[in-house]
Amino acid sequence: MSFGIDDLPVRDELRGKTPYGAPQLDVPVRLNTNENPYPLPEPLVERITERVREAARALNRYPDRDAIELRTKLAEYLTKSGGYEVALGNVWAANGSNEVIQQLLQTFGGPGRTAIGFEPSYSMHALIARGTGTGWISGPRNEDFTIDLAAAEKAIAEHRPDVVFITTPNNPTGNAVPPETVLALYEAAQAAKPSVVIVDEAYIEFSHGSSLLPLLEGRPNLVVSRTMSKAFGAAGLRLGYLAAHPAVVDAVQLVRLPYHLSAITQATALAALEHTDTLLKYVEQLKSERDRLVAELRAIGYDVTESDANFVQFGRFPDAHEAWRKILERGVLVRDNGVPGWLRVTAGTPEENDAFLDAVRELQCLVG
Ligand code: PMP
Repeated sequence: MSFGIDDLPVRDELRGKTPYGAPQLDVPVRLNTNENPYPLPEPLVERITERVREAARALNRYPDRDAIELRTKLAEYLTKSGGYEVALGNVWAANGSNEVIQQLLQTFGGPGRTAIGFEPSYSMHALIARGTGTGWISGPRNEDFTIDLAAAEKAIAEHRPDVVFITTPNNPTGNAVPPETVLALYEAAQAAKPSVVIVDEAYIEFSHGSSLLPLLEGRPNLVVSRTMSKAFGAAGLRLGYLAAHPAVVDAVQLVRLPYHLSAITQATALAALEHTDTLLKYVEQLKSERDRLVAELRAIGYDVTESDANFVQFGRFPDAHEAWRKILERGVLVRDNGVPGWLRVTAGTPEENDAFLDAVRELQCLVG
C-alpha cells in the first residue's frame, strides 16, 4: 500500500479532501476556466519585456514591499472605470485575487470564526476558508440562482458570520447581484456582528451594470476585490487587488508575507496597466460573444442563466457530467462545476464559440 496524505499528521479538516482542480486538458477548444482567449497584443509584450529587463537589473534587491507605483496605477484605473475616487491608501494588491481573499480571511476569519457564501458560487471561497481554519456556512439561493434575500438575512442573523462573500457577477451562474441586495446584506451583517463583507467583482468589467465601488463610501467593513486575470487577459500574471477603507489595507498587511509581490510581477502588471484601453477593447468583443452564446443556446433549446460575466451557465441535463464528457469528445472543454443539471462555458473567440455551439447542437439532437 502506498503512503499518502492521510498517513501524514495533516490537520483534521484537510483529511480526505481534494485540491481545487479544473482539468487542464490539451484539447483544441478550451472554454473551461473563464480566461480571456486573446493573447496579449505584441506592443504590450514588447513593453513587458522592457519593464522586466529593467526590473531584472535590480533583482539582487527585494521588490517594493508596498508596491506603491502599482497600487497608485490600480487606484487610477478604479477611479476612472468605477465611478468612485479611490487613492493609493484604499488599494491593496497580491498574487491573484485568490491571494487577496486568503489575506482577508487570515485577517478577518481564522479559527473560531466563520464565513458565509451563497452557493453555488466561486468554490475557492469555501476552500480558502478551510485553508485558513475559518468555518464555512453555505447560504441559500433561489431556483433561478438569484440570492434569496430573506433567507440570506435570516442565515446572517442566525450564524453571525465574521465574513460575508457576495460574488457579482456570480461564478458559475453568471448573474449579477443588484446593489440593493448587497446593501441589505451589508446592513444585516453589521447588525449581526459586525462583519466584513467581501464583494468579489472578478468579472465586473463584463457586466451590463456598473461596479459597486461607490458603495464603499461610509462603509468601512466593505471590501471590493478585483483581478487582472479576466478583463485584462492576464491570468498568467497572477495579479489581484482590492479597494476598501485604508484601515482594511493596513489590516491585511498584518498577515501578508513580506515582499509577496515579486519585482517581475509588479513590472509586468504596470506594463499591462499602461495598455488598459487596448486590453479593454477585447472586453467589448467578449461581451457581444457572450450575448451571442446566450441567444444561440436558447435558440437551440437550452435553459440559460442571465449572464453579466464572460461565461454562460446552460442546462438542464439529466446528467451534467455525461453531457460534459460528450462535449469533450467533440474537442471542446467546458466546465462541470458540480451544479446538478448545469454546465458552464467561457466566451472564447468567435471560432471557438462556433465549435462549442456545433458540439452542443449535436448533443441536443441526442438528448432532445
Ligand atoms: N473570484 C472569482 C469569482 C473567480 O471566478 C476567480 C477565478 N476563477 C477568482 C476570484 C480568482 O482569480 P485570480 O486569483 O486569478 O485573480
